[in-house]
Amino acid sequence: MITEYTLHAPAPTQVDELGHWHEALARTRERSPATFERWFSSVQLDSLRDGVLCVSARDEFVRDWVKQHLIPDVVASLERALGRPVTVRWTVRPVLERPVCPPSAPAGVPRPAGAPSEAPPSSGPSSARGATRERTQPRAAAARELRSSLLATLNPKYTFANFVVGPSNQLAHAAANGSAGVGGQRYNPLFICGGTGLGKTHLVHAIAHKVLEARPAAQVVYVSAEHFTNEFIEALQHKRMDEFRARYRQECDVLLVDDIQFLAGREQTLEEFFHTFNALRDADKPIVVTSDKYPQQLQRMPERIVSRFSSGLVADIQSPQLETRVAIVRTKARLEGIPLDDEVAVLLAQHVQSNVRELEGALIRLAAKSSLLGRSIDLEFARAELALVAPRRTETVSVADIQRAVCNHFRLSNAELLSKDRHKSVAFARQLAMYLCRQRLKSSYPELGRAFGDRDHTTVMSAIRRIDQLRTTHPEVNEHLQAIEQRLASSED
Ligand code: ADP
Ligand code: MG
Repeated sequence: MITEYTLHAPAPTQVDELGHWHEALARTRERSPATFERWFSSVQLDSLRDGVLCVSARDEFVRDWVKQHLIPDVVASLERALGRPVTVRWTVRPVLERPVCPPSAPAGVPRPAGAPSEAPPSSGPSSARGATRERTQPRAAAARELRSSLLATLNPKYTFANFVVGPSNQLAHAAANGSAGVGGQRYNPLFICGGTGLGKTHLVHAIAHKVLEARPAAQVVYVSAEHFTNEFIEALQHKRMDEFRARYRQECDVLLVDDIQFLAGREQTLEEFFHTFNALRDADKPIVVTSDKYPQQLQRMPERIVSRFSSGLVADIQSPQLETRVAIVRTKARLEGIPLDDEVAVLLAQHVQSNVRELEGALIRLAAKSSLLGRSIDLEFARAELALVAPRRTETVSVADIQRAVCNHFRLSNAELLSKDRHKSVAFARQLAMYLCRQRLKSSYPELGRAFGDRDHTTVMSAIRRIDQLRTTHPEVNEHLQAIEQRLASSED
């Protein structure tokens, strides 16, 4: 079942693919060697053929982590080199014959039997260090190690300078700047929320870079909620809670926690996080948390934590408007050294509306294909390529899907939504639905009028104008929109 490139003489195209795989790995390793080696000691290449990459992970935890944090980078490099999309297929197998990085001694925090997820650490300090070493390590050396591990984790490109500001992310950007101590008011905590791929991680990395630049001695702790959980479990198992608490409470000057929604329902970790949070806030140390939902929408999160999240500033990030998307494409092209005409940047931004990560992916694919074919990225080429990858959202979501999501969100029946009922709450739901249809599907006003109980196109126009206005004056309207978008996204998958 497993294709052994190392055992059989591979065909020339496979040699190419394999070569590109190694190059892609090397690039990813360069960015953060320690993280790379730890995780890839639990991953192996099974085969790479015709753009299908088969890899195995030692367990589900490693698979999920590598899938989320390391493989996207490798795949992006591979796609660029191969000039074609690459599909990844994962297998879980407890015994790996040929891990990408043979396990070496220092990586070895021993895996205690039955430990749920003692996969190697990543974003953040700590368990990379062996237990004994950690206990005897002088404080200054420990601080140095934390700093270098933090730098290895941070994406050097995720800076404020590389972040494009527009109406959709203005507040989050200004507040993040404030938290980094570079002008603006500091709110504590700062809660940044928004859908996937809209720049939350970019902003928290930017805060870390900025703080380290301004105050090199500051202890910045950047950690994903997932990693916080794993470290906590490990500390419990190894009876190292004192060290864990010292690191997150006494020794931490700025705490940045990414993807807090991961803690939902994890009672013991939430309890620990609650005390960490209180200790830092009492000491007036900045805390920044990101989440894919607003605090009130976080399920299985104790009320006392939700209310603390809401007690500072909740700054949301919405999908960027066209102008911002164009500016982002230009910025990314400049950073990646991709020559791009303005008209192509606009075309890309018009084509990919869902999130910035997908926009970036489309740009990279275009660049890869053009370099492979030796063609410049002109409008004609871009049009042809983009036509091949029609955007998933507009293709799969229909007016009926949006109406259904809105009805579910407001607990209305479809008949009510389409009725002549002018009751405020029903009318509001209807206007939101029209607004979303217009935004997502670009349907014409008369078309929408017909789809919404045979209404006049002027009714649709004024509904959309009203929601546009409300979005700037009433933040809860954005919350509704985001919640409905999430429903749509989950039913699309
Ligand atoms: P999230 O954490 O919200 O899922 P990320 O921070 O990982 O999203 O962003 C996804 C990609 O989009 C990253 O490469 C990031 O640099 C880019 N990105 C998002 N928003 C912006 C922006 N406003 N300006 C520049 N790049 C952005
Ligand atoms: Mg993120």
